[in-house]
Amino acid sequence: SDVVLRLDAVRKWYQTGTLHVDALRGIDLGIGEGEYVAIMGPSGSGKSTLMHILGCLDTPSSGSYRLVGVDVGELSEEELAEIRNRLIGFVFQQFNLLAHLTALRNVELPLAYAGVPGDERRRRALAALDRVGLADRVDHRPSELSGGQQQRVAIARALVTDPALILADEPTGNLDSSSTREVLALFDDLHDQGRTIVLITHEEEVAAEAQRVLRIHDGELQATAAVRR
Ligand code: ADP
Ligand code: ADP
Repeated sequence: SDVVLRLDAVRKWYQTGTLHVDALRGIDLGIGEGEYVAIMGPSGSGKSTLMHILGCLDTPSSGSYRLVGVDVGELSEEELAEIRNRLIGFVFQQFNLLAHLTALRNVELPLAYAGVPGDERRRRALAALDRVGLADRVDHRPSELSGGQQQRVAIARALVTDPALILADEPTGNLDSSSTREVLALFDDLHDQGRTIVLITHEEEVAAEAQRVLRIHDGELQATAAVRR
């Protein structure tokens, strides 16, 4: 399959005064189109740092990151922001929905940033909400929805731009077990439809849903990568 992203010898270090922290110590990773990959690791292992790099929120200290063939390390802040909006659909632990906007308006936002005209925006946002099973909740505000429904709105927002990569950072961390199952079933459907998904989690049961589980320890990926299906 086509390669969506590739990290070669990616290192990331933080320097605060005299304190030097090696957060990533040489990550090599390729992810193909349609793969569903979970990245697992304990607190402090480098998951957030890796997710920030994968999401083009930060760039490597050394090594290279190519996303759909674009060398991200070469880009300006402005170009990074453009790449983020165009190529990546983010799903966060805290949903990050705007409280004063309806589900429909929340899902329209990335299209508004991309300059998509109003009619098309509305049509595509409605289709994305339908896709996540919330066609009957489009005019609800986040506070009128359950946690699982809010996360599904966030997933619709991530899908609406038709991104190359869906990047989910602890997407079930704030959900009860039934909402967790609901959200994981939705990721499973999206994978079946050919979406490329990277899910970052510290929960074994959540990671087990993915096709491939990568483990990070002290800034290094473990070599094993069992393929389940
Ligand atoms: P995780 O998400 O797995 O908890 P992080 O990527 O947040 O791991 O952190 C990896 C290591 O890098 C930790 O030692 C953490 O304290 C350190 N770290 C992360 N971000 C920063 C930062 N902005 N400045 C300094 N150290 C950081
Ligand atoms: P999350 O819960 O989203 O994984 P964290 O609570 O670990 O994030 O960290 C919040 C922010 O603080 C992140 O941007 C991370 O890079 C930064 N950070 C984490 N560890 C450190 C550290 N030791 N020193 C400075 N900043 C850090």
